[in-house]
Amino acid sequence: MGDIRGLIARERLFIWRLKMEIGEILLKKAHEAMELAYAPYSGFRVGAALLTQSGKIFTGCNVEHASFGATCCAERTAVYKAISEGERSFRAIAVVSSGERPTAPCGICRQVLSEFSDDMAVYFCGSNGETVGTTLRGLLPMNGIAL
Ligand SMILES: [Zn+2]
Repeated sequence: MGDIRGLIARERLFIWRLKMEIGEILLKKAHEAMELAYAPYSGFRVGAALLTQSGKIFTGCNVEHASFGATCCAERTAVYKAISEGERSFRAIAVVSSGERPTAPCGICRQVLSEFSDDMAVYFCGSNGETVGTTLRGLLPMNGIAL
């Protein structure tokens, strides 16, 4: 029985390492997507890479518009691309921005993601390389709870 705790600890470390590897792949894809951002008004470029439960990756960038309300975030661009291709459930999303510090998905994007996944890994990274890893539930903690 003494060994079981050690095995459980190793299992957690192994899973954590795999999640970080997945996150690194997604962050690289998000960075590539950021290069395509259309952000002539703010200059704030964002890219996202969304991993579906089926193992596909959909990318997106922010698309601004002179009528600011028509602007779409990178995260939602990726979600809408995935939904329009028949995907309905997601494992993880990575978001990269041109800002120095990591920028978390906005409230609208958190809500849109929660429409399709109860929980998923969320990674976000700024230009300084600092990366935050959390979950959608961590970013939207009381979503769906009736009080
Ligand atoms: Zn957003």
